[in-house]
Amino acid sequence: MKFLQEHSFHGSVKYLTMHEIKIAEDLAVIVLEAARNENLSEVTKVNVSFGQMVQIVPEIFEFAFRETVRNTIAEDCELIIEILKVKIKCSGCGGEFNIDKNNFICIECGSAEIEIIQGKELFVKSIEGE
Ligand SMILES: [Zn+2]
Repeated sequence: MKFLQEHSFHGSVKYLTMHEIKIAEDLAVIVLEAARNENLSEVTKVNVSFGQMVQIVPEIFEFAFRETVRNTIAEDCELIIEILKVKIKCSGCGGEFNIDKNNFICIECGSAEIEIIQGKELFVKSIEGE
């Protein structure tokens, strides 16, 4: 069983308006390329994380991914999708919080001077195969 390390996807914000299909195609390219580099004959499991702001619908994404990897060595792999909550850091009081969408103010001091530290990312956590 081989286990590959984290592969960063390119960018994040530009995907906000893109469809799941485009992201699924990019993921398939990364998975198949990694599998080829490691001489895998079958990909068994793919773990991906999406920030909540990427607005992926897991069911649609999985469907798109399945279509993309059909007839490849990743065809039967298990796809695990993790959605990361939006997390902000307040410049006023330094607090870090998970927040709900569209409520970008500090829940401690009310400051709007915040930085988004999690929620826009898109990455492959691991690719497993044999
Ligand atoms: Zn604050």
